Amino acid sequence: MKNLSIFLLSIILYSCASSSSTIGSSSDNSVNPSESAVLWQQTAAEYNALCYQSYQIARKRVEDFNAGFSTMTSGKPKAIILDIDETVLNNSAYNGWLVLNNKKYGEESWEAWVKKEEATLIPGAKEFIDFAMNSGFTILFVTNRSKASYKSTFSNLLKYGIEATIENCYFKYDNDSDKSTRREDIKNNYEIFMFIGDNLADFEDVFEDKGLDIATRKSLLEQFKNEFGNRFIILPNVMYGDWENSLKKRNSKSIMNDSKGNLQYIKSY
Ligand SMILES: [Mg+2]
Repeated sequence: MKNLSIFLLSIILYSCASSSSTIGSSSDNSVNPSESAVLWQQTAAEYNALCYQSYQIARKRVEDFNAGFSTMTSGKPKAIILDIDETVLNNSAYNGWLVLNNKKYGEESWEAWVKKEEATLIPGAKEFIDFAMNSGFTILFVTNRSKASYKSTFSNLLKYGIEATIENCYFKYDNDSDKSTRREDIKNNYEIFMFIGDNLADFEDVFEDKGLDIATRKSLLEQFKNEFGNRFIILPNVMYGDWENSLKKRNSKSIMNDSKGNLQYIKSY
């Protein structure tokens, strides 16, 4: 629990520091506020430390299961669900490309990046996956990558010795990014021991609502706070996520391209 507290505190402190220094320092729209996020994710050893910490907590949970401290009762095969992007694969080079070319996220450029199969491995992911599989867990990937990208996705993961197949990887159904239907389908056949992701919608259906405002997201999170570090393991991602939707909802402008519009969300004294 202490590890978890330090982890969450680190995220909060970083988010505050990053947001205020980057967004606040820009006097016009020529400065992309995601620059600091990409720099941190690519250069800070603290980022790697947080990833290792997340996967160590996940490993400890599997060790506790192996030692008989927790049981699974349904008789179904036991599984662990992992997201892929910013959970197993690091796509910060794509976000770096966006920053250097002053572009915002787009499906076309994202698919072109995925095809390159150059995403790197998130620290700790491979070791954890091996350990969980050796402990008898089935690893299932639930990703919002498109079905069309399956070859590149599998091949990129395989570079790091991680085997994903059509059987254990759930891509978007009919281009729908909502993961709840896929989670339901999985629950029909497996008992889920743990969820690992970087976005709240990787864990619970209630966070799939892209229209949630900032306060509602935070108050919903309180209902699940005891799950983090237990059934839910979250990885750091300050580059993007559904948290941006709650900003867009208020001013219909993206944090990636309009720093001024988001100054209203920054607390000061
Ligand atoms: Mg992700």
